[in-house]
Amino acid sequence: MSHHVSTSFRTFSGLVALFAMPFAGVRAQTCPDAQALTRGLDGVLAHVRFLADDRLEGRAVGTAGEHCAADYLASQFESFGLEPAGSQSSFFQTFEIRKGAELGPQTRLTVAGREYGVGTDWVPTGFSASASVEGELVYGGHLLSSPGNPADEFARMDISDRIVVVEWGDPDDPHGTGLRGDPHFKATVAAGRDAAGILLLAPIGMELPTPDSEMRAALAIPVGIVSGAAAAVLREALIGGASASLRTDVRATSAEARNVVALLPGANPLLRGEYVIVGAHYDHLGYGGEGSLAPGETAIHNGADDNASGTAGMLEIARILAAGPRPDRSVLFIAFTGEERGLWGSAYFVRERTIDLEEAVAMLNLDMVGRVVDDGLTVMGVGTAAEWNEIIDRANAALSTPFTIGKSPDGYGPSDHSSFYGEGIPVLHFLSNLHEDYHRPSDDWEKINVDGLERVSQLAARIAARLATGGADAVALTRIEQPQQRGGPNQAASSTSSGYGPYLGTVPDMTPRPFGLRLTGVREGSPAAAAGLRPGDVVVEFAGRPVTDIYAYTYALQAQAPGDEVVIVVERDGARVSVTATLGAAR
Ligand SMILES: [Zn+2]
Repeated sequence: MSHHVSTSFRTFSGLVALFAMPFAGVRAQTCPDAQALTRGLDGVLAHVRFLADDRLEGRAVGTAGEHCAADYLASQFESFGLEPAGSQSSFFQTFEIRKGAELGPQTRLTVAGREYGVGTDWVPTGFSASASVEGELVYGGHLLSSPGNPADEFARMDISDRIVVVEWGDPDDPHGTGLRGDPHFKATVAAGRDAAGILLLAPIGMELPTPDSEMRAALAIPVGIVSGAAAAVLREALIGGASASLRTDVRATSAEARNVVALLPGANPLLRGEYVIVGAHYDHLGYGGEGSLAPGETAIHNGADDNASGTAGMLEIARILAAGPRPDRSVLFIAFTGEERGLWGSAYFVRERTIDLEEAVAMLNLDMVGRVVDDGLTVMGVGTAAEWNEIIDRANAALSTPFTIGKSPDGYGPSDHSSFYGEGIPVLHFLSNLHEDYHRPSDDWEKINVDGLERVSQLAARIAARLATGGADAVALTRIEQPQQRGGPNQAASSTSSGYGPYLGTVPDMTPRPFGLRLTGVREGSPAAAAGLRPGDVVVEFAGRPVTDIYAYTYALQAQAPGDEVVIVVERDGARVSVTATLGAAR
């Protein structure tokens, strides 16, 4: 399940080893021997044990560990007799991702005739533009964006065409959890105010970060971080007024990411062209960083519950259905990657679908189903089709030990079903429980409730089998348009609202694109719907600010207040359309 917090940086000292392979994509690594690793284990526990092993290094998207996991999943699908349903009749659907950045030899900073050492005195960020500027330095304080605060002299300071020098962080937020102090946010604000470049002064003792795992797109201006010691010298130089030459040679590195896709073809010639989709993401957080709830800790995040458990459950459903009577409709199994980065794999699948999604009758998503407590289970998306309650209750009642099921109606949420609901497909998301190991290195396989996981798999397998059955027992799902639910559990995740401040009601597609932000969905009855925004629209401007990506969009929204009227420009069917929205208040 994805969770977005501000980025942490990898330190410069670990960089040298990585220069050797910037464009090699995935580092060649021998994958652990699955048979040896899972000896004596079987079923869901064997799958979790393999996927959550340290040697898969937390399965971050685009890494060797993710690669090994994908190979394992394909071999399991094959062993159940399923057909490859990825691209080019393989089990894999491969796409390229930005993996990070590396520095080129042109990188250079000179202030008042003094050269600053790259990696010692300063370093460009991974989201810096690759650019060269000469210009006057101007001191910008902390460059905190606090609209409407008359005391904030820097909020209105003219920094255009100059290199602004800014203090690190936000004095009002010492733990750095907020947005205003985030270096990426400050740099975006500076770019939006036409600065020529920005230098962020790190506090004494902070190690200079490296750009190597920076996955966010390059901003329009050069961005550098100056070490605590060098910052003292630079502040001195500023007093008398100084100019600088700032050259940032920052090159994006890329890697391959893979969804794993397999098909159980339906037996009924009239119905095999219709699909039930069963999915789970298999990537996780690697060594931590963005999304980790153990910020600053570089350690393997094994992701046993998130989401080796759901992936194991999906494999178990595949095994059960493949071993049983062949269903009438086809069943498509998808292991998504890139979920932790913002549903990248499922959004890519929807965009580059390998089946006709118009013929998909439903999508079942398993994400974090390994920590059942007291027979409790949450099923989300129940409000997306009229028949879901009856279907779930009947399947649950048929289990030897039924669950106590908590149902929630929302079709949008912080996991891959959201991408399919945006396409109008009824969805269900199975979740056992949040817990203290969520997004921490301690999410280990020994803590998985195996019996609970097996039962979730059986429940979902029963539902999938029912949906895939034709004839007298067939169910046709009636899709329900979702009434707006302010304060629903997933609001923060699904509608770019952080629970306070302005509310619009859009569901963003968080996969990176050259420019703009595509909308996966628009909430029924929301200010966005009232303004006429539609799923598929690409937002390119918000309240006069260019929207390069999800971050620029979030920042532009955060700069407004409830009740504000904003003009939003979108690209729709090749044309630019402007709409005006009156922002609501998130609750
Ligand atoms: Zn997660």
